[in-house]
Amino acid sequence: MAKNHRGKGIRTLPNHGRGECPGCHRTGVKLTHELKVGEKTLKVCKICKKVNPSSLAA
Ligand SMILES: [Zn+2]
Repeated sequence: MAKNHRGKGIRTLPNHGRGECPGCHRTGVKLTHELKVGEKTLKVCKICKKVNPSSLAA
């Protein structure tokens, strides 16, 4: 199969899954990664998920 469906999953999300990341406060990033902080689950960008997951703990 050709690469015709890449990224289709986030099209159904509000604003195509983009917004301000609660971790790094950049805007226009794709908030596709869920990060559990205590009992809550935040949507963060891939950078906050991979590089600095502990920055949201406070
Ligand atoms: Zn971020």
